[in-house]
Amino acid sequence: MSKFETAAPATLPDFRTDAFIGGRFVAAASGRRFTAVNPATGRPLAEVAACDAADIDRAVAAARAAFDDRRWAGLKPSERKRILVRFADLVRAHRDTLALTETLNMGKPISDAKAIDVRATADCIAYYGEAADKVYGEVAPTGDDTLALVLREPLGVVGCVTPWNFPMIMAAWKFAPALAMGNSVVLKPAEESPLTALHLAALAQEAGIPDGVFNVVPGLGAEAGAALGRHMDVDAIAFTGSTEVGRYFMRYSADTNLKRVSLELGGKTGFVVAADAPDLDAVAEAAAAGIFFNQGEMCTAGSRLLVDNRIKDAVVARVVAAAARWMPGDPLDPATPAGAVVSREHQGRILEAVARGQAEGARLVTGGGAVHAESGGAFVAPTVFDDVDPRSSLAQHEIFGPVLSVIGFDGLDQAVEIANGTVYGLGAAIWSGDLAAAHKAARRFKAGVVYVNCFDADDITVPFGGVKQSGFGRDKSLHALEKYSDLKTVWTRL
Ligand code: NAD
Repeated sequence: MSKFETAAPATLPDFRTDAFIGGRFVAAASGRRFTAVNPATGRPLAEVAACDAADIDRAVAAARAAFDDRRWAGLKPSERKRILVRFADLVRAHRDTLALTETLNMGKPISDAKAIDVRATADCIAYYGEAADKVYGEVAPTGDDTLALVLREPLGVVGCVTPWNFPMIMAAWKFAPALAMGNSVVLKPAEESPLTALHLAALAQEAGIPDGVFNVVPGLGAEAGAALGRHMDVDAIAFTGSTEVGRYFMRYSADTNLKRVSLELGGKTGFVVAADAPDLDAVAEAAAAGIFFNQGEMCTAGSRLLVDNRIKDAVVARVVAAAARWMPGDPLDPATPAGAVVSREHQGRILEAVARGQAEGARLVTGGGAVHAESGGAFVAPTVFDDVDPRSSLAQHEIFGPVLSVIGFDGLDQAVEIANGTVYGLGAAIWSGDLAAAHKAARRFKAGVVYVNCFDADDITVPFGGVKQSGFGRDKSLHALEKYSDLKTVWTRL
């Protein structure tokens, strides 16, 4: 037994491993399965249905039938609300199993899985459930002789394709508003971490979501994901993942039925520290948490630390000290701050990026290697590079791991220019004692989310998403409901 299995429970959760289609758990039509692996031990966890185009056809047909007979869309919105709120309550009731499943399947610390992933998933479902009976259409001002109703209607069948870094939360950000508006959903979770989505399917059914309205189809991206993206009877795709795969979804849509597409893609957040930033200890703590939380597997990870050259050495020394407190450990140990990265393959990609950074001449000041090899798992030490060239690959490409690039600047104009100098536009942060200067910089950042003197602020009520090659469309907040509904005008001459 590896040392990282000592905290494991004697019995594992009873994982759901079949696809959930039309209200039933079913094997893939082909009978094929793929192996879900525990990245902290390298050992197999479960054999999951490997769905392909035939299964996507079945799921879309079930979703379409459920939409067309109005078993969900035709309910009173207050009834949809009641069911979604019950779904959220069930997620909370299953907190321990869901958190354990998430941790075993993708390596994040169990304490985060409970306090963040399960909580945020339940809160998201409850929020959109509560919203279900609070959005409605309008009457347009067209004069006394006509009545022009502007109805807000669901789209139909929504395909959700999601990544592995926050498997439940990323899925809930999409399926919850889609369901609240009355759509049917086909969810394709990432192949690295499909298990919690399948558990959520069972809870959705228990809560009373009618059969066929919520389907979960695990499978490989190039098979199940592509089939969903190309399906002629899918009305919209809501995608979170890499910029590269986001491009595929645009092509799938263009080549098929012009289904609408929304994309939440990669990022390379610039975390800017001005010379007048007060409390450099707090800045360094936030900078370390900003890149090392969730093993750096975060689209908004503060992966570029831009520091005014006058205070750079003082900040770097503090960040290196803080980095030591993010050394990964057994994800099942409640005291562990960071866990395993999602797979051995991903660990390899992170270490390649580190090697490239060294070859480019950046100065490795801490970390840079794999740790806990004896566990059989995929762990990477918190890594900090200083003196990084802002145009180098280290500073330009999303690594999606615990690797921080420190870049010096002279004055805020240069900081904003460097922060904006990637293809991405998801997050940005600025720390300064001069709030007016910070807010001026906030307006100039080409980013969907800007943090001023903080980096951990979060709430389901605020929109989230990017600009440039970080995608378009917004998750969270009431604005997300617009992605899953359309306006229909109904004229009557009076
Ligand atoms: P990924 O793009 O590899 O995969 C995402 C999903 O797309 C998975 O379900 C996968 O199976 C599917 N997929 C892969 N290839 C496909 C194909 N050819 N056709 C159709 N579907 C395909 O991303 P990932 O590695 O799972 O997640 C990491 C990426 O997600 C990072 O780039 C990260 O920045 C991004 N992300 C963005 C946000 C955001 O809100 N902006 C949030 C989390 C993660």
